[in-house]
Amino acid sequence: MESYNSFQVEQKQVAEAAKILNLDKATTELLLWPQREFKFTMPVRMDNGEVKVFHGYRIQHNYARGPAKGGIRFHPAETVDTIRALAGWMTWKTAVVDLPLGGGKGGVVCDPHNMSDRELENLARAYVRAVSEYIGIDKDVPAPDVYTNPQTMAWMMDEYETIKGRHHPGVLTDKPMQVGGTEGRRDATARGGVITVREACKVHGIDPTGSFAIQGFGNAGQRAALLHHEILGGGTLVAVCDSRGGIYNAKGLNSKDLVTHKLKTGSVVGFPGSKEIPRDSVLELDVAILYPAALENSINDQNVSKIKARIVCELANGPTTPEADLILHKNGIHVIPDILASAGGVTVSYFEMVQDSYSYFWEESVVHERLDTKMTKAYHAVQEAIREKKVHPRLAAMVVGVARVAQACKLRGWV
Ligand code: GLU
Repeated sequence: MESYNSFQVEQKQVAEAAKILNLDKATTELLLWPQREFKFTMPVRMDNGEVKVFHGYRIQHNYARGPAKGGIRFHPAETVDTIRALAGWMTWKTAVVDLPLGGGKGGVVCDPHNMSDRELENLARAYVRAVSEYIGIDKDVPAPDVYTNPQTMAWMMDEYETIKGRHHPGVLTDKPMQVGGTEGRRDATARGGVITVREACKVHGIDPTGSFAIQGFGNAGQRAALLHHEILGGGTLVAVCDSRGGIYNAKGLNSKDLVTHKLKTGSVVGFPGSKEIPRDSVLELDVAILYPAALENSINDQNVSKIKARIVCELANGPTTPEADLILHKNGIHVIPDILASAGGVTVSYFEMVQDSYSYFWEESVVHERLDTKMTKAYHAVQEAIREKKVHPRLAAMVVGVARVAQACKLRGWV
C-alpha cells in the first residue's frame, strides 16, 4: 500500500470537511498545513561504541484550541509526511472529544526491535535535548505512540527536568504512576473505543455480545480484548493477528490467557487451542465487531469488499484508505472513525496533565467515569453531524473537529 501518502489522505479529509462547512480559503489553507515543523538529527552512541545518527521530527499541527498534543513514534518507516498526517489527526481528535488542546506528533526513524534498552534510553534523551525549547505543558505535550511506552516517557521527562532544573511532570503524558502518571491511562484508548462500540450497538440495534476480531495486538489491541467483555457484558473473540501472523478459534480465544501468551512469546501465534490463519484474513471474517488496531491503510481497495463486520471500530490511526471508506459506507458497515474511536488515550492524557498541574491524583473510578462521559458525548455529537449533514461517519467526525478548530482560529483573529 506504498501508493498511499497518509498526509495527502489527511489533507483530502480536511478539504472535504472545509467544503461542507463553507470555510473561506484562508481558513482552509491554515487547517491543511501544520503550523510548526521541527526536523533534527540525533547522534547516539551505540553499545558497540559507534555513533549512529538518527533523524527525528516533532510537528505541531494546530494549537488554536490549546497546546499541541500527541505521541512520539519510534518506527523505521516514519517520514515527514506520516508525522504530518498523524499530527493533523491529533488536531481533529482532540477537537472531536472537545479537549482544550491542539494536535501534534513526533517520530524517530529507527528500528527499536534491534536496539538495546540503553540505546533506546540514549535516543529518548537525545530526542528531548533536540526539542526541549519547543515542548512544555503550555506549548506541546508528547506521549507514547507506536513502539514507545511509559518507560520512554519517564526517561524523556527526566531529561527535560534535568535541562530545566525543576519538576515538570506535565510535559509528557502516559508516564508510569510513580512519576506523575494517572490511573487508567494504559487502557484508555481501548476503553474509549469500546465505549463508542457500546453506543453504536444501541444506535444501530446490534447485539454487543456477538463475535469480534482484533487486527494488531499491541497495547490498544490487547486492552480491547480484555475490556470488550467487561464493558459490553459479553462477546466472543474469534480471531486476532499481529505482525507475525493470525490465529482463529470459532469457540472463542480467552483474552487474558492470550495477552499473557503474547507478553511471554512476543506474538499471538502458537496460542494453545487456536488455528493459524493468514494475517490479513482477520479483517475479512464474519463478525459483529472488528477492531483495526495496527498501522495505517490496512483496510484498502484490495480487501474492503471482503469485510463483513457490522461495526468497524478504528483503534489505529488512519487504518482505512479514502476509497475503502466509501465502500464500507455503501456496504452498510458502521465505521467508528479513528479520530473518535481512538480518542480515549488522549482524553486520559489530558486528565493526566490536569492532575499533574495541581499535583493531586484521582481515583481510577473517577478517570473511567469522566472518560465515559467525554466519549459518549463525542459519539453522539458525530451522530448528530451524520444526520444533519447527511455524510458518512468519518466525514461527520471531521466536520465536528474542523468546525471547532476553525472557530478557535477565527476567535483569535487569525483568519
Ligand atoms: N498516541 C496516542 C494517540 O494517537 C495518544 C496521544 C496522547 O495521549 O497525546 O492518540
